[in-house]
Amino acid sequence: MHSNKPLSSEDQVKAIADTAPIMLLMLDKDNNAVYVNASWLYFTGRTIEQETGEQWLKGIHQADLDFCLQTFKKAAFQQSSFKISFRLKNGDHNYHWMVCNGASRLNATGEFDGFVCWCLDIDDVMVANHQENERQALVSSKNEEVLSNELFSANEELLTTNEELASTNKALQLTQVKLANLNDELEEKVRLRTTALEESEHEQQTLNEELVATNEELAATNEELATTNEELLSSQRRLEKLLEELKESEHRTRSLIESAPLPIAVYKGREMKIVLANQSIIDIWGKGNDVFSHTYHSLLPELGNQAIYDQLDEVYTTGKAFHARNQRVDIVVDNVLQPFYFNYSFVPIFDTKGEIYGIMNTGAEVTDIVRAKQLVEQSEKNLHNIILQAPVAMCILMGPKHTVMVANDMMIEFWGKERAAILDKPLFEVLPEAREQGLEQIMADVFHRGETFEAVEMPVSLYRGSQNGVIYQNVVYEPYRDNTGKVIGIIAITTDATEQVLARQKLEQSLDEVQKLQRQKDDFIGIASHELKTPLTSLSALIQVLTVKLRDTTDPFVNGALAKANIQIRKMTNLINGFLNISRLESGKIHIEKQHFRLNQLLHEMAEEIQITTHSHSIHIHDHEPVDVFADKDKVGSVLTNLLSNAVKYSPKGKSISVNYVKKDDYLEVSIHDEGMGITEQDLDKLFDRYYRVESSYTKNISGFGIGLYLSAEIIKQHGGRIWVQSKSGEGSTFYFTLPLN
Ligand code: ADP
Repeated sequence: MHSNKPLSSEDQVKAIADTAPIMLLMLDKDNNAVYVNASWLYFTGRTIEQETGEQWLKGIHQADLDFCLQTFKKAAFQQSSFKISFRLKNGDHNYHWMVCNGASRLNATGEFDGFVCWCLDIDDVMVANHQENERQALVSSKNEEVLSNELFSANEELLTTNEELASTNKALQLTQVKLANLNDELEEKVRLRTTALEESEHEQQTLNEELVATNEELAATNEELATTNEELLSSQRRLEKLLEELKESEHRTRSLIESAPLPIAVYKGREMKIVLANQSIIDIWGKGNDVFSHTYHSLLPELGNQAIYDQLDEVYTTGKAFHARNQRVDIVVDNVLQPFYFNYSFVPIFDTKGEIYGIMNTGAEVTDIVRAKQLVEQSEKNLHNIILQAPVAMCILMGPKHTVMVANDMMIEFWGKERAAILDKPLFEVLPEAREQGLEQIMADVFHRGETFEAVEMPVSLYRGSQNGVIYQNVVYEPYRDNTGKVIGIIAITTDATEQVLARQKLEQSLDEVQKLQRQKDDFIGIASHELKTPLTSLSALIQVLTVKLRDTTDPFVNGALAKANIQIRKMTNLINGFLNISRLESGKIHIEKQHFRLNQLLHEMAEEIQITTHSHSIHIHDHEPVDVFADKDKVGSVLTNLLSNAVKYSPKGKSISVNYVKKDDYLEVSIHDEGMGITEQDLDKLFDRYYRVESSYTKNISGFGIGLYLSAEIIKQHGGRIWVQSKSGEGSTFYFTLPLN
């Protein structure tokens, strides 16, 4: 390609050389080719690289090389031109004869610098010469002149060419000088460039080193980045998983919070915007379900003067949680400000940067518990008041040491100490004299086993002033329990029974004396009856004899006197028998001797016997089917006599007495009814007691000892039967007794 750029001198030389129809070779001082032109290369069929340096010498025929080198050497030594012929190998590996004209080359300072050689392919000429030589040998030297002329003209041409070459050489030399100058400039520039390059190379190297280091760092960083990247990726995956878990956990937390039975809410920011609230807390607020459009303050304005806003603000400012217990909080519910009690907490919530986000409010409504506690406290107060005002000595002793918590004046008096010396002190420390009498053990049992202890007239030895005297107390030690039922102390109730005990002891003493007297009386009656029995028996026998002897007397007085004497003897016999039975009963000598007999018959016998001495009353026996019993006939007979004679004794004259008997399942019930004075209710119970008699204006003139019913009751009891009375004052009486039939 043709360029418009102006050619340098060297380039110009080369351009000329290249276009020259002759082969050009430039050698340095050591025969190295520094340049060959295009004709040269065309001939050798090689590249410029294959020809430069010593390489071009390889093209010279082996037979011509030494000669060539010597010629160059000689010419170089002489710094002169030369002319030489040699064979040079062409592109087809054939050797052609060359004629070579060498002219010395000078550098810019005019010093010898090698040769410029023009070579001409003279092979055709040489071949022609050879052929001519052969032809001349054949044809003789006829044409020698012609040939010589031709050669001459050829030589002429060569010379002309040589001259042209010489002038070209000069131009070349000039060009060479310019080239040398240019070369110098170039070298300078190259040097400068080289220096700059070296510097820059140094810098480059440093830079390079730095770069290498950086590179290494980068590589390491890269690796780290790769690792980090992987970590990031797995972190991201973890993060995603975490986020999912978070979402799920948030969902769970939310649903947990929402379904929690405890009140929970979350307020955001200093303005306390309600962002989360479960139904439990919504219900407590009592402001309806639309709470999320509110701040805490706007929803619960009634808390403004209850310190709660300040607590929230404090938590938000300091980041420290706040806890309250049994705190009263008044909330407007159903348009009424009502007191509630809560255990609540305000706990700060922080965001991921550690900055406060809001406050979580958890709580537990303890209104019922607090109210219950207040009730307990109130009832405790009431109990204390009851104790203080009780008409009996009372106190509460707390704990296992029985510390006196509360005691009324009667109790303090009972202890015989100052109130201040006793209150809040363990009982047995302030009452050492009460120790070792079994009280410690009793109280410990009440406290540890929770069992009530009751005792009547328990003797306790206590100081009374300076004297240590025994007092008697009726005590109740009741376990004192807390609201969980745990025994925490003892409620002691004491009544002083000392006076009662002493009075009773006196009474017992007098009763003993009465009994002694009674015994003496019984003994006397027993002895007297025994003693009376013998003369009465003699008297009775004598009267009987007398009655027989005077049977025919007509003296009405004697007859009457004897009959009355008989009646009185019979009465006296009954009386003495009664007394004797009493003393037998007392000494356990009364015996039941059972036999079979017909009761109807006994009833008639006894009634007839009574009617012998009594004509003022009529006795009626209601007869039914005969009843046989197995009993002590005499003793049952004496019971009947007793009841019938009482019916006579305690009824006005002319009244009738009816006797009845009823056979029931397995017993026989006998009744004696009179129309007499009857018996008052208060006397009914005591009627069967020994020596008991009703005292009234009516009875005071009726003789008796109050032993008949007592003996009758004992006899019936010994038979396994029952005796009782139905009566009303003024309306007559019915006495009943039963006898078992089998
Ligand atoms: P006594 O008749 O010798 O006094 P009792 O033991 O037989 O002793 O009777 C006790 C008391 O019961 C009598 O004193 C009397 O007051 C009362 N009493 C007994 N029988 C009757 C009766 N049928 N009607 C009214 N009072 C009676």
